[in-house]
This record gives sequence, structure tokens and C-alpha cells, in this order.
Amino acid sequence: MAKTKKARRLDELAAQIKVCTRCPLWESRNEAVPGDGKYTSEVMIIAEAPGKEEDESGKPFVGSAGRFLNHVLEGTGLDRTDFFITNTVKCRPPKNRTPKKLEVDTCTSNYLFEQIELVNPRLVMLLGTVAAKTVLGVKSVNEARGRVIERDGRKFLVGYHPAVRFYREDLGEKVKEDFALLKREIKRLAK
Ligand code: SF4
Repeated sequence: MAKTKKARRLDELAAQIKVCTRCPLWESRNEAVPGDGKYTSEVMIIAEAPGKEEDESGKPFVGSAGRFLNHVLEGTGLDRTDFFITNTVKCRPPKNRTPKKLEVDTCTSNYLFEQIELVNPRLVMLLGTVAAKTVLGVKSVNEARGRVIERDGRKFLVGYHPAVRFYREDLGEKVKEDFALLKREIKRLAK
């Protein structure tokens, strides 16, 4: 079947991201990670930046975070291929440091915002402060988590990234709550 214009543009963006040198993060990456999943998905998940395993594989949400997501989705009738999953910046910052403003601004203005428009999801889960701040302008995860924020005709949820559990044990319960809310809102979309 012929690809739609939107799908062709998403392919084009992914190809550009793979060879992008627009901000300094390209110098230390192994693989840029454009994101993957269903181009017409109703649900989009946006995290901060690729981690080590993502940088090595070129795929988002692999390793333990990916297994956690699969676990969360049990019983929803969905799996990760039903979503579009990506990051705010597409290249791994050295030693997983927080991406700088210039890196975030460059990457999102060239790629993320257009990806959101093209996929056009009804529900967007933002994981971590960088994603929440960039897309919704909120100051922190805590300020926005635990509720549904409606904006521009979409629903947004803010939560902690599952990986946070490995260095902040106290946030483990909050991660579970955030993903329980995601699961509930996914079920509501189906009604
Ligand atoms: S982080 Fe984004 S803007 Fe920077 S080099 Fe990678 S793809 Fe390009």
C-alpha cells in the first residue's frame, strides 16, 4: 500500500535525524534515535533523551524501561508497537547529562514538534522534567503529574521515567501511579 504524505514526511524526518549534525550532541552519539512505532497512533510517549542502550541500538525505550512498559501494557490489549515512542532530543548526551537548552531548542524545533503534529495523537505521555517543560512549559514533573492536562485538543500526562527507579528508589511508587494513570486514559480512549 502506498504511504501517506504524513508517513513519508515522518520517514524523511527519521532519515534526517540519523545523520543530523545540527547541535553538538551528534559528536558523542553512536546512533541517533528518531523514535518508532505507529505513525497514526492515538498515543505518543516522549521521554528526555536516549540512554546507553538506546544509543547503541538506535531504538527508543529498550532494555529495562522497555520491559517495564510491556508490563504496564499487560491487559490493555495494546503493545508498544501501537504507540509512537520518541525522545525530546534524539542523541544521547554524554554520560546521560541533562540536555542543554540549545540542544533541546534545536532538536525540538527541527524534529519533535513536527513529529507530534504529524502523528497527531489524542494522548501524550511526557516522561521527565525536560519533556514536560519543553512541551507544556511546566517547571517540574511534580507540578504536573497525577492529572490530565488538556491542551490544543490533546490530553497530556506527565510522569517520571521508569529508569528513575534505579537511582531513586523512593520514586518507584510514583512511577507505578503515573503508568496506572496512562493505562486508565488509554482504556478511556477506546470507549
Ligand atoms: S540531538 Fe537532535 S539536533 Fe542535536 S544532533 Fe541529534 S538529532 Fe540533531
